[in-house]
Amino acid sequence: MSLFSFAKTEFKNLFSKPATRPYPQQPREYPERTRGHIENDMDVCILCGLCSKKCPTGAITVDRAGKTWSISGFSCIQCGYCVESCPKKCLSMKQSYTQPDAQKGTNTFVKPEQPAPAKPAAEAAKPAPAPKPAADAEKPAAVPAVPAEAAEPAAKQD
Ligand code: SF4
Ligand code: SF4
Repeated sequence: MSLFSFAKTEFKNLFSKPATRPYPQQPREYPERTRGHIENDMDVCILCGLCSKKCPTGAITVDRAGKTWSISGFSCIQCGYCVESCPKKCLSMKQSYTQPDAQKGTNTFVKPEQPAPAKPAAEAAKPAPAPKPAADAEKPAAVPAVPAEAAEPAAKQD
């Protein structure tokens, strides 16, 4: 490179915008179809385990007894197969990437307790049954058992 072309490039760079962004002050906007990380809407998830069976890397673990759904973000390859196979459509592919870490971690989500199903209106409007009267108050007093000798008259002695 001649000195002239070097000086030309130098001047051009001095008075033009930098090619890089001042990250993190100006974070990059993800393109619309970026595959970043998987998120699960635990309110809708039924813990069926289908996503876990379909995942080619075994990144998802479903514990039905413990009511948890876990994903290892570092094992996920963002193929989106779990999103397609979920019967409840509660999985979604988010644009942002898994946060960097020194260790391969797993994110675990707990299924929230569902409220008890509401009673039908007709059933809810029914009056409560009247309380039963105290059983002991109305019962007749127990009759004492009569011994056999006392109940039968003594045999006549001739
Ligand atoms: S397939 Fe869907 S509903 Fe079933 S466990 Fe996975 S996320 Fe939950
Ligand atoms: S996107 Fe692919 S690799 Fe990632 S959890 Fe879903 S099925 Fe597994």
